[in-house]
Amino acid sequence: MSNLFSRVSTAAVLLALITLSVFQYQWVKSSAEKDLIELYKNISFRIYSAISEEFSYYPLFSNRYDDFKNLNSESELRSKLTDLFAISNNYDENQYINSISYIRVGEDSRNYFSYSSEGWRELSEFPIDSEFDKPGPSLIPDSADTTKVWIFLPLRTMIKDLRIQIVIHFDLFSFYKNNIEQKITTLSDVYELKWHYKSSDEIMEPLKEYNYIYSPFKVLKNKFLSIDSPKYIEVPLHVIMFNVDDGRARLYYESVKDRHLKQGLNAYVSVYDDGIPLIQSKEYNLTLQWILSLLLLLGIGIAYLIILYQINRLKQLRLREKEFVATVTHELRTPLTVIHSAADNIKSGIVTPERIEQYGHLITDQSARLSSMIEGILLFSRLEGKVEQSPITKNVYFNEIEKDLQVFSQTLEKDFNKRISIDFGSLAASAVTDRDTIELILTNLISNSAKHAYNLKTEGEIRVKGHVQLPHTLIFTVEDDGAGIEKSEKKHIFEPFFRGDHSFKNQIKGSGLGLYLSFRKAKLLGGSLYVKSPYERADGRIRKGSRFTLTLPYHAGKGEDNS
Ligand code: ADP
Repeated sequence: MSNLFSRVSTAAVLLALITLSVFQYQWVKSSAEKDLIELYKNISFRIYSAISEEFSYYPLFSNRYDDFKNLNSESELRSKLTDLFAISNNYDENQYINSISYIRVGEDSRNYFSYSSEGWRELSEFPIDSEFDKPGPSLIPDSADTTKVWIFLPLRTMIKDLRIQIVIHFDLFSFYKNNIEQKITTLSDVYELKWHYKSSDEIMEPLKEYNYIYSPFKVLKNKFLSIDSPKYIEVPLHVIMFNVDDGRARLYYESVKDRHLKQGLNAYVSVYDDGIPLIQSKEYNLTLQWILSLLLLLGIGIAYLIILYQINRLKQLRLREKEFVATVTHELRTPLTVIHSAADNIKSGIVTPERIEQYGHLITDQSARLSSMIEGILLFSRLEGKVEQSPITKNVYFNEIEKDLQVFSQTLEKDFNKRISIDFGSLAASAVTDRDTIELILTNLISNSAKHAYNLKTEGEIRVKGHVQLPHTLIFTVEDDGAGIEKSEKKHIFEPFFRGDHSFKNQIKGSGLGLYLSFRKAKLLGGSLYVKSPYERADGRIRKGSRFTLTLPYHAGKGEDNS
C-alpha cells in the first residue's frame, strides 16, 4: 500500500515538475520575446529622438532652404553657401562639413564648384556621379571614406536658366557619434553603438519588430556548434530627408515592414554589449537563466526522490528493528530456558552422575550462545553510538587464528554436516593487526555459509583461505557452493537487521547483525568486506554460491619482511 502510495506520489511530483518546466519554457520564451522587442523599440526610439532633437538645432539641417529658391545670381548662392558652411562648422568645436559644392547644369554643360576651408574652387569633375534629373537618394555614402556622405539637397534651384544642385560632403557618422551618443549617455555608457553603412544586399534581417522568435534550444545549439548567427539591434537611420515644402531636414525612418521602399542609403546603428551584438548577448543571458531555473526544478525533483528514498529506508529499518527484537527475544529465551531446565533437573536429582558431564556441556554451550548474542548486541550499540574505537593492533600469529577457527569449525561441521577447510598456507607467519576482528568476521562468515548457503544437514563444502597480497594487503576469503544470494538481497545484506527471505522461511537462527558488524569492524581496521555471488574460481569456473572477501591492511609482523 505504502509502496503504491510512494509510486503514485513520485509519478505525480515528476509529472508536476515536467508540466512546470514546459510552462516555464513557454513563459521564458514569450517574456524574452516581449522584453527584447520592447528593448528594441526603446533603443530605437531613444536614438531617433536624439537625432531628431539634434537636427532641429544643427544649422545645416535646421536651416530654412526657402531662401535658396529665389536667387538672382551665382554670387548670392555662393555667399549663402559660405554662410551655411561657417555657421554649421562654428556650431560646436567639431567641423562636420568638409565641403559645400554646387553643380551648375546648363543646356549641355556641367560645372562643379566646391567651397571648403581653403575657399572656392572649380572642379574639373565631381567625385560622384549623380543623375540630377531623377529624384535620387538624398544621401550617398562616400566610397573613399565610409564615415562620410554626400548629401544632395533635393531643392531644385534655378538661376536664370541654369539648374543648380547643391551637394554637401558631410561627416555623418562622426556627427552621430559625437552628438547623438552624448545625448543618450544612459544608453551609450552601457552599450557600444556602431554607426555604419550597408549596401542593399548586405542588409541582414535586424530584429524584426513583428515576428521575432526566441528559442533557447537554438541559442544552445548555435553556441555548442559555434555557429555565429549574430542578431543585432540595428536601427535603420534613413534619417535625413529634406522636406521640399519647407526646405528643412526631417527625421525619416522606415519600419522593417517598409523595407522595400528603401533605396540605396542604408545607414545603421548596431548595438553591442561587451563586444557581442546586444540581442545575442541578451539571448545568452536568458538561456543561462533558463538553464539555471531548469536545474533548480531538477534539483527539487532529485531532492524529493532522495527524501522519499530516505523515508522508505527508515521505514524498512524500523520494520527490521521490530523483527530483530522478536528474533533476539526468541534467541535469548531459548538458551535461557535450556539452562534453566538443565539446572532444575540437576537440582531435583533426576540427573544420574554419568549424565552430569553431558549436562555441563549443555549449559556451557547454551551460555556461550547467550553471551555471543549479547556481545553482538553490545557491539552493535557501540558501533551505532560511534563509541567503538579502532582496535589497537599488535603482532598476531596466524596459526593461532587458524587453530581457533578449526575448533570453531568442528562443532559446525558436526551440527550442519559440512566440510570446512582452512588454508592459511599463503599467509605470512604473523602481522600487526587485530586478532579479535579477524576471528569475529571469519567465524561469522563461516557460520553464515554453514547456516544459509545449504539446506540444513545436506553436505557441502566451505573453503576458508588467507594470503598476503604484497605489499600492503591481507586477503581472507570464505567460499561456499551453496544457493548464493539473490541480486535484490545482495545490496542489503550488509545493512543492520537485514535477513534474507530464505532465513525467514526456514527459521534459520540469526539476528541480521552478523554481516553488518563484520563490515563495520573491517572498516574500523582500515579494510573492507564484500561479496561476489555467483563467483569465479581460480580455474575459471563460475560457482553459484557466495564468496566473501575480507581485505585488511598488511603490516608485517615481528621478523617478517613486507617488501
Ligand atoms: P544472520 O546470519 O543473523 O541472518 P547476517 O547479517 O550474518 O545475519 O546475514 C544476513 C543475511 O545474508 C542472511 O540472513 C542471509 O540471508 C544472507 N547470507 C549471508 N551469508 C550467506 C551465504 N553464505 N549464503 C547465502 N546467504 C547468505
